[in-house]
Amino acid sequence: MSRDISLLYPELRDICREFISRCAARGLKVGISQTYRTRSEQDSLYAQGRTAPGNIVTKAKYPLSPHNWGLAFDIYRNDGVGAYYNGDGWFERCGAVGRGLGLTWGGDFKSFKDRPHFELKRLLPDCSVAWVRRAYGSPEVFIRTWRDSVTQKEFDAMMEDYLSRRGQAAASAWAAPELAEAKKRGITDGASPQSFATRQEVAAMIIRAAK
Ligand SMILES: [Zn+2]
Repeated sequence: MSRDISLLYPELRDICREFISRCAARGLKVGISQTYRTRSEQDSLYAQGRTAPGNIVTKAKYPLSPHNWGLAFDIYRNDGVGAYYNGDGWFERCGAVGRGLGLTWGGDFKSFKDRPHFELKRLLPDCSVAWVRRAYGSPEVFIRTWRDSVTQKEFDAMMEDYLSRRGQAAASAWAAPELAEAKKRGITDGASPQSFATRQEVAAMIIRAAK
């Protein structure tokens, strides 16, 4: 479970930091328990209360949680009173700070109150993960548009997960004739057709093709 703020969508990263400091100014000591959530993490969370022991903690199956897109973070209470103690309305006070920053607070959810949860919805025209899913298809594609904020290790793990789901064989088959032709002409060595090319590799391939 990642608590790393830098794994969030860049705009949310800035808002999250501002949220923590505004809460601190009001005497609310906030800790971050979760930001980006991988598919396997979402799967095991979804299993909880269904096929695994415990209470149901999420309605969302991967990739329907905004956490899977770097668009949500969860907090806990870090002042020694108890991580989720709310007898004094501590989470409501944090919720108000979040709302003031344009965040959607899980405590405002109608059916499934999730007080530690905050998400960025104003990014999405119809205020839902469905939109970002239609626009980008998968979290991996969306996250690639701002991958500078994702560590290489996290990104590699994400891509590995993605490619194993898609199936290596099916994924490489679509451009097989082009790849064979490019290999014949010495543009690429044809190795690891599934991996991403760096800018310098792309540049080298274009120059070779132009020759
Ligand atoms: Zn959450």
